[in-house]
Amino acid sequence: MDTPYLSLNQWLRQQFQTKVIKLSLNANLGCPNRQNGKSGCIFCSAGGSGDFAGPKEASITDQLQQQKTLLSKKWPAARYIAYFQAYTNTFAPVDVLRRLYEEALSTEGVVGLAIATRPDCLSEDILTLLKEFSMRTFLWVELGFQTAQEQTARFIGRGYDNAVYDQAVFHLAARQIPVVTHLIFGLPGETAEDMLSSVRYVCRRPLWGIKLQLLHVLRQTPLGQQYETAPFPLLDQKTYLELLCRALPLIPPHVVIHRLTGDGPKKDLIGPLWSSNKKAVHNAIQKAFVDKNICQGSDTFAKECENYYPALFLSCRNEGFDI
Ligand code: SF4
Repeated sequence: MDTPYLSLNQWLRQQFQTKVIKLSLNANLGCPNRQNGKSGCIFCSAGGSGDFAGPKEASITDQLQQQKTLLSKKWPAARYIAYFQAYTNTFAPVDVLRRLYEEALSTEGVVGLAIATRPDCLSEDILTLLKEFSMRTFLWVELGFQTAQEQTARFIGRGYDNAVYDQAVFHLAARQIPVVTHLIFGLPGETAEDMLSSVRYVCRRPLWGIKLQLLHVLRQTPLGQQYETAPFPLLDQKTYLELLCRALPLIPPHVVIHRLTGDGPKKDLIGPLWSSNKKAVHNAIQKAFVDKNICQGSDTFAKECENYYPALFLSCRNEGFDI
């Protein structure tokens, strides 16, 4: 189906001339934001925001093989992206990471790597490693940014400030490593303008892909406990669709849309419950775009962003970033 935006499916099909599927992995690397007395991002599940990833006890090869076996009946000609999803996938010594990425890449049918991590977990040696792999395969790095509102970032326990994100995206861009940024709509206390200004913030910086996600309140998370003690307003479907209809035109046309909704485990979902019917939500989003004639990048802001990157790179160099 044609969409009024550049979907990841579409982009991958164009690049690889076949169906390409992400296989979610749990390398069991943990997260620096959940150690040494830190309790992590308040929405994060015990599974480290990788609840659909393979079992952490299994090797990378076995996790990939299990998922390939399930998918190959429906998609015999598919190729795969090994998606290191759960926790922080650069939170280990370089030799450990090299072994894990190598293992994934040596699995038959794997044509690329996606590495989910934190902007404060990209030291020089890790960046060099990522660059090395990006020269051999298609690789992108996903950053959980969630919001550009510093006050909200502190409330959700993100654990780094916006300047750290800025440095990370410029360091990655300088190495031509595609960046995918994850934003959450519906964080407590945020207005529609706050959420849209987060979209603008990330679009003004190097960005290859974007994930827009509805806030899911999950059981056994600090946010879930807060909600059960003192419920706060959650986004209803109509408001979420309106937000997407305002966000999509802001996103430059070259940015690949990886996600427009959430993906929480149903059994742990406290709310919003309407989001658990993924197919219905997906259809409602597509219908809203058609009904309102919404198109990615149609806003003048998106067009300004297209011209913005060269100036940004220059200003970064002037500020001493290594690009
Ligand atoms: S950085 Fe990711 S894994 Fe770590 S606490 Fe936050 S959401 Fe969870």
